Amino acid sequence: MSSIADNLKRIQDRIASACARCGRDPASVTLVAVSKFHPAESVAEALAAGQATFGENRVQEAAGKFPGLRARHPGLRLHIIGALQTNKAREAVRVADVIESLDRPRLAEALAEAMAREQRRPGLLVQVNTGLEPQKAGIAPGALEDFLGLCRETHGLPVEGLMCIPPAGEDPAPHFALLAGAAARLGLRTLSMGMSGDFEEAIAHGATHVRVGTAIFGDRPAM
Ligand SMILES: *Cc1c(COP(=O)(O)O)cnc(C)c1O
Repeated sequence: MSSIADNLKRIQDRIASACARCGRDPASVTLVAVSKFHPAESVAEALAAGQATFGENRVQEAAGKFPGLRARHPGLRLHIIGALQTNKAREAVRVADVIESLDRPRLAEALAEAMAREQRRPGLLVQVNTGLEPQKAGIAPGALEDFLGLCRETHGLPVEGLMCIPPAGEDPAPHFALLAGAAARLGLRTLSMGMSGDFEEAIAHGATHVRVGTAIFGDRPAM
């Protein structure tokens, strides 16, 4: 069994190689270590190995795990990457540095309200449903420009970029290309795409953030 530190080193090496293949600076890609379902001890192990940025799906789980670690690691950055209920918006704004799952007008409104109340402004990414999957969250690519306008003009939200989760079992490349094209057209700099199975492909398409869980922490314990 390999340790979390070994796994992190391997992933960083693979990120560097992927960057070299397409002439990118490895510093332009941030590894988001997805620690959902894994205990705070595993996160602490990753922190000790130099990993600073983490991703969690559930606000509740993140709120239980991270405040203690943050006190000891001021450089820690937490991304919320999972579906967010509007009644969790305030807690999300309290714990997150970036929320990657802004996916509907009602949530934009709730986050704007929460940011005003908490006097805290995490960065925001809009989740895009690149595969137009009915069961999946996200803004349809064709509705993105209007949604971005609503976020910025109506709610004054700090939207920095886009995020996607391509359909399972499909070639992710066209989805990464679609997301990168949309970001370029809309002048957005941050592109969160790519997971354990396809982060190198995502880097080739311009990912600035890759979200890797299993390849770092191993299989997720059953909940
Ligand atoms: C769980 C999760 C990941 C990490 O997936 P792995 O295949 O374990 O690397 C990335 N992004 C999101 C949105 C997730 O929910």
